[in-house]
Amino acid sequence: MGELLRAICSECGFVSEDLYTGFGFKGAGDHSMEPSICPKCFSFKLRDRRHPPQMCYRCKTEVVFYGDRQFSVLFFPDPLHSETVAEDSTDRLTKGRHVCPECLRAALVFERLGHWD
Ligand SMILES: [Zn+2]
Ligand SMILES: [Zn+2]
Repeated sequence: MGELLRAICSECGFVSEDLYTGFGFKGAGDHSMEPSICPKCFSFKLRDRRHPPQMCYRCKTEVVFYGDRQFSVLFFPDPLHSETVAEDSTDRLTKGRHVCPECLRAALVFERLGHWD
């Protein structure tokens, strides 16, 4: 069972493809796909959160997962220039505002489109 999400940025109009998160097909695999972002080249992608570290295919940097309570620490190298993100107060993807991979503002929301299995 997984959740079908879509990420939308209110600042720059970025819209993700449909994101099939979780694992689907109950018990079909020991993995859990979650949206992530590369702190270096900002590549936005679903990756397997159950098997860290996950490396960016483009630049080989370890990616950061949305919904990770450490998000701001891991994503913003300079704490003085970090944005307030949803992860500072919740681990629910569909709550609050997240960092947009296009404009890097905390203006991205995850909408729940439904469940899939
Ligand atoms: Zn990268
Ligand atoms: Zn944006």
